[in-house]
Amino acid sequence: MSTHSRPVVSPAERAFRTQLRGQVIGPADADYDELRRVFNGMFDRRPAVVVRPIDEHDVRAAVLLAREHELEIAIRCGGHSAPGFGTCDGGVVIDMRDIACVQVDPQRRVARVGGGMDWGALDAATQAHGLAVTGGRVSSTGVAGFTLGSGSGWLERVMGFAADSLVSARMVSAEGAIVTASRDENPDLFWALRGGGGNFGVVVEFEFALRAIGPTILGGSRFYPIDAAAHVIAAFRDVMEDAPDEVCGGLTFITAPVAPFVPESLRGQPALAHMVLWAGNLAEAEKGLACFDELGRPALDLVDPKPYTAVQRTLDAFAGPGMRNYYTSGLMREMPQAAIETFVRVARAKPSTTSHIILYRLGGAFARMPEEETAISHRDAPWMYQVLSSWLDPDSDEVNRAWARGGRDELNQHSEAMSFANFVADEGDASLRVAYGDTKLGRLAAVKRDWDPGNAFHLNHNVKPALAPTSVA
Ligand SMILES: Cc1cc2nc3c(=O)[nH]c(=O)nc-3n(C[C@H](O)[C@H](O)[C@H](O)COP(=O)(O)OP(=O)(O)OC[C@H]3O[C@@H](n4cnc5c(N)ncnc54)[C@H](O)[C@@H]3O)c2cc1C
Repeated sequence: MSTHSRPVVSPAERAFRTQLRGQVIGPADADYDELRRVFNGMFDRRPAVVVRPIDEHDVRAAVLLAREHELEIAIRCGGHSAPGFGTCDGGVVIDMRDIACVQVDPQRRVARVGGGMDWGALDAATQAHGLAVTGGRVSSTGVAGFTLGSGSGWLERVMGFAADSLVSARMVSAEGAIVTASRDENPDLFWALRGGGGNFGVVVEFEFALRAIGPTILGGSRFYPIDAAAHVIAAFRDVMEDAPDEVCGGLTFITAPVAPFVPESLRGQPALAHMVLWAGNLAEAEKGLACFDELGRPALDLVDPKPYTAVQRTLDAFAGPGMRNYYTSGLMREMPQAAIETFVRVARAKPSTTSHIILYRLGGAFARMPEEETAISHRDAPWMYQVLSSWLDPDSDEVNRAWARGGRDELNQHSEAMSFANFVADEGDASLRVAYGDTKLGRLAAVKRDWDPGNAFHLNHNVKPALAPTSVA
């Protein structure tokens, strides 16, 4: 008898191995630990099996087998979900990263993109033709989770969120139907996929409308000491009131890197970074961005002509995988002086140097998109902020979470609680109301009933299926 014991493979894992053409990884496999990992180090979950489908038929088989074996389903693309929705304990992770193809049609200005793509790769492919779609501000963010949950990026003032540029999506439903959603086909599903998250099925392909951007643009960041922050925010508010759509960017409370390019007085110190990008004709960029002279002279100016892809990677250095994270956010209709002072106070109180607050000015094309076109709400609120808590030591979980939540609550005193699915923390039904409001939530629940009545896809900001309408005799 052999002394080697064979790894135990569960009946479910065996079934996936038999029926899928893509990779199937169980706890006994060498790459299990690598492949079950997600961006947020808070989630160290152990799925029964990770499957990596290679096409829509494989995805269909994975969904049907998961349901047959009564396994919870997590859908994973970039793995960036702050509440850890891309993984689970004891269930199946449908890891889409092997469906990561992209086809760009420069004549029609559209891109067809696999449901497992990340923004770094998509930006590279579209920029080869001088085209782009609003994308993630960190290159490893998944195109799928980002787009389905709204998709705010540096180009949002010229082309809206990523979901606003969606032309169609191909999806595998809970029952295994493979369908296309667009304005003409399954329009209710198309409406819901634009902002309603991963509630309705597994998206295997997105088709995006593109816009001419770059490849060289004027952009980068300017650093100010934190003592100047209140003045800079107030000036930014006033400048952005009349700024053309092409003036894009935002303000980030950071801790300045300890690096030779940073002035000594700023190294390792709390600072305000102004991210700047001109999303128009390069020849007009200097003139277009001159409005920011009002913000005062920065301590460090890194704005110069550079590839759009370089701007898209500016924040990568601040967002490494494996850190423990808690993200929350809000929107404001006004930016009174009291709110500015709250931002500075909350930023000064951050318990970890790796935590940030980011403030964006929306408006432009995002605000002009008719409210009823997509599941995204709050288009009339021009100010968006994120409180991003990021730390390493598990013993500091509570203090870091409390800072983010407390900061958000203080900032919400200047506004009602509003946000987008990508940015809300996992606070159950409260998060859904904050993201959608009651009317859109009702419509999302009706679409959910049509495509996933048993709520097989519930690891997300979960919209419960509406009850079936009762027939009247
Ligand atoms: C460092 C960092 C930077 C970020 N920057 C931005 C930003 O600039 N703008 C912004 O809007 N958001 C941003 N986010 C939030 C991010 O967009 C959301 O967390 C989004 O859900 C991440 O998508 P993902 O595919 O990477 O995540 P995953 O964890 O892989 O997926 C998250 C969820 O999306 C759904 N999903 C994923 N793939 C599919 C699919 N193929 N079909 C159906 N459902 C699917 C599932 O519900 C899944 O649970 C950022 C997050 C991080 C951590």
